[in-house]
Amino acid sequence: MRADLHIHTTASDGWMTPEKVLEEASQAGLAYISITDHDTVDGFLRLTKTAGSISPVVIPGIEFSTDLPGHEVHILGYYINPCDDELRHHLDILAKDRLARVCKMISKLKNLGYNLDYDFILEIAGPKTVVGRPHVAQALVAKGYFKAVKDVFDTLIERGGPAYVPHYKLPPQAVVSLIERAGGIPVLAHPGLVGSDSVVNKIIAAGVKGLEVYHPSHDEGMTTRYLALARQRKLKVTGGSDYHAIPGRFPGKLGEFTVSGSLVRELRA
Ligand code: AMP
Ligand code: FE
Ligand code: FE
Ligand code: ZN
Repeated sequence: MRADLHIHTTASDGWMTPEKVLEEASQAGLAYISITDHDTVDGFLRLTKTAGSISPVVIPGIEFSTDLPGHEVHILGYYINPCDDELRHHLDILAKDRLARVCKMISKLKNLGYNLDYDFILEIAGPKTVVGRPHVAQALVAKGYFKAVKDVFDTLIERGGPAYVPHYKLPPQAVVSLIERAGGIPVLAHPGLVGSDSVVNKIIAAGVKGLEVYHPSHDEGMTTRYLALARQRKLKVTGGSDYHAIPGRFPGKLGEFTVSGSLVRELRA
């Protein structure tokens, strides 16, 4: 039994609808998936009517952005109650702030000679979407300023880039307790991408209960190291493909990067 516990949909910056993700996961023979959109549970909620009637089992999830000075940190929340009032209150604030951030990015871009309008970016993102840098990048590609989304990131909107604007983030400890109060399990996403093991240790100290040991960005050495760290600190082990369905970005299809279904049992225990 295989699982993929890290998947994005069109509710955030993935390019595939939740329904299509479920269909593709089913075709790939996955037993469990988790929809872990950035700062939203809307993608998961769209599936509650279909989930259960066909395999795979869909585990509620989310991926929060948080940071410690100089490092972007992502924290996954599994088995959260998507209707929890406090959770929804914070998600509303995060979504609104992301819209204000788009305005700020537009004016920075204007000063750099790139003209984009707000409505066009929202049209690219689609309705009911948590808007992020990838949508701004897609808009610049659609306007012919760049060939690929990656070029936009490299030139303009990478953290510290000339058109970069941070979005409002809750501190790590607040993310951890928000997930727990919503009945969920906080897990540090892709520790290898954090870029510093001392920051990883600080996030563990903030109270995450798991470590995403298996991630496409981790090489064999990292996977072994984080597996040992998880065992040593008594953290649950998770993993997933971080699927976005963006052409050119690994994995090209669900089922190409999976983890053992036994991790789901461990997660739930
Ligand atoms: P945001 O949360 O709006 O700041 O956007 C962060 C998202 O942008 C990440 O979760 C990735 O999906 C995407 N991203 C970050 N860096 C890059 C990059 N260099 N190329 C393409 N996408 C990226
Ligand atoms: Fe993303
Ligand atoms: Fe992430
Ligand atoms: Zn992700």
